[in-house]
Amino acid sequence: MKIVVTKETLAGEKRVPIIPPTVDKLVKLGAEVEVEAGIGATCRFQDSEYEKVGAKVNADREAMIRSADMVLRLRKPPENEIEWMKKGCIHVSYLDPFNEVELVEKMKSCGVSAMSLEMIPRSTIAQKMDVLSSQANLGGYVAVLLAAEQLDKIFPMMTTPSGTIKPARVFIIGVGVAGLQAIATAKRLGARVEAFDTRPVVAEQVQSLGAKFVKIDLGETGQTKDGYAKQLTPEQLQMQKEGMAKACALADVVITTAQLFGRPAPRIIDRGMLAQMQPGSVVVDMAVETGGNVEGSEVDKVVEVEGVHVIGIGNLPGRVAIPASQMYSANMGNFVDHFWDKEAKTFNLDLDDDIIKGAKITHKGETVSEMYIGIMNK
Ligand code: NAD
Repeated sequence: MKIVVTKETLAGEKRVPIIPPTVDKLVKLGAEVEVEAGIGATCRFQDSEYEKVGAKVNADREAMIRSADMVLRLRKPPENEIEWMKKGCIHVSYLDPFNEVELVEKMKSCGVSAMSLEMIPRSTIAQKMDVLSSQANLGGYVAVLLAAEQLDKIFPMMTTPSGTIKPARVFIIGVGVAGLQAIATAKRLGARVEAFDTRPVVAEQVQSLGAKFVKIDLGETGQTKDGYAKQLTPEQLQMQKEGMAKACALADVVITTAQLFGRPAPRIIDRGMLAQMQPGSVVVDMAVETGGNVEGSEVDKVVEVEGVHVIGIGNLPGRVAIPASQMYSANMGNFVDHFWDKEAKTFNLDLDDDIIKGAKITHKGETVSEMYIGIMNK
């Protein structure tokens, strides 16, 4: 089976989809691996390092894709490259299918089996291939560092002969993978940390990291069977805003990470709440690329809204491209390995497997993901 991995094309993307140790793993499984020339350059991996572990390096992107049985990437494919793929080619990447309807249609009509890594179920067995977790974890870390750099105060308490400096107060909204890492990072820097999530089950995790869980009674909230937050009613959202206003007003830094699977992110901080915050405070909107949690935040910008610095920098894991690539590459390698038929030396597209059922969006000219069809038809 020929596995082809192409260079990322989006300007500014420094993460690379595959690094040499993963190539080594795939070659040892019996795959023929071909990578595009210069694939690892942004993370300082040389072509020779890929060749050393058995990959063929090719500069002809179109020819590579046309000959592939499987294409591995980080981001969605450029539209014009979809028709280069053979019928039946398996394509594995982030796909953002809910926002990429035309791309999904094109993959369907070209007979490509498109796997969306975001759709892999959040089960224990799939943890090793969970790109959402590996990247969100790094994103949570970077968000705290950006905030610390923007803030004109320090995070830790300092007791010195010149006086005592109080620790910064950090409020984290949304405590999934990114939020938990943000709490841990802010704590390590010495801040006083509070956090809130609509899923009450996370209160214990917040406390175990030494932070305080802000309690707001929103009535029935809960989570989906996959552990994702349920959408709040407009009344609940209003109650949440009122409940969080005090914590926001006291905070030097607010980091929002709230996401709803398959839907735009909830708008949880409005201008009124920003106006009540101390001037010079910092808000990091980690959901800026999926609609934004914060009114006024802008993708890839730091803007001032009501005297507050609102950071909307996107692709936070891309700012720590080396560990992000290491983890992404390992996730993809584990995905391929998990379904590899060692005798036939090929990827076994097991249509009855829960992970494949979750990740597979198109197959043999059909849209096949029940979750995708369900959410799109709502
Ligand atoms: P996510 O990125 O979908 O959302 C981030 C957080 O925002 C979530 O904690 C969510 O509850 C919260 N949120 C949504 N609306 C909100 C609102 N209005 N106000 C405040 N917070 C709000 O979440 P994630 O990090 O991808 O995690 C999703 C689930 O998957 C969690 O239950 C997590 O524990 C679980 N998970 C499981 C595994 C595994 O078992 N393999 C791995 C990672 C995560």
